[in-house]
Amino acid sequence: MTGTLWVAIAVLGIGAALFVYRAILGVQTYFGYRGKRLVTCPETHKAEAVDIAAGNAAADAFLSEPTLRLKQCSRWPERQDCGQECLQQIEADPENCLVWNIVSQWYEGKKCVICHKAIGKLHHLDHAPGLLSPDHKTVEWRELRPEQLPEVFATHRPVCWDCHVTEMFRRLYPELVVDREPEPKRIRY
Ligand SMILES: [Zn+2]
Repeated sequence: MTGTLWVAIAVLGIGAALFVYRAILGVQTYFGYRGKRLVTCPETHKAEAVDIAAGNAAADAFLSEPTLRLKQCSRWPERQDCGQECLQQIEADPENCLVWNIVSQWYEGKKCVICHKAIGKLHHLDHAPGLLSPDHKTVEWRELRPEQLPEVFATHRPVCWDCHVTEMFRRLYPELVVDREPEPKRIRY
C-alpha cells in the first residue's frame, strides 16, 4: 500500500512539473510574440505592420509546438487571405522586427537637432520623442503608422519631446510666440 502511494505521489509530481514546464513555455511564447512588428511584405516588398496571434501561439506552445499566424496586418482586410509568408522573417529574428526595438535603435545615440540634448533611451511611460520633417514640421513617432516609420526615418531628423511641443505650439499659435534675438546679460545696479 505504501509503495502504491509513493508511486502515485511520484506520478502526480512528474505531472505537476510537466504542467509547470509547459505553462512556462506558453507564457514565454506569449511575451516573445506579442507587440507590433515590421516585416517586408513578400508581395509588395514594402514595410507592413503586423501582429502575431500571440495567445494562440502560447496555447500551441503549452500543448506542443507554437504555430505562428497573423492576428493583424496593415494590408488587411484587403489581403486577409494571403499566405502569410512574412512569418518566416519573424521566426528568423523576432526581436529585430519589433517596432519598439526598431525605433529604439534609430534614436540610440542621437541628439535633438534643435536643442542638441541627447534623446536618451526610450521608455514606455516617458513622453515619446519626435521627428522633424524636411519642411520643418515635428511629429511624435507614435502618431505615425508603424509601416510608415522606415521611410520617415530616412527623411526626418530626431527631436526631443520638449522641442516637439514647442515647435507644435509655435506652428498652431504663431500669434502668441515672440522670437527674441539673444542678448547679453543686463547689468543690474
Ligand atoms: Zn530638443
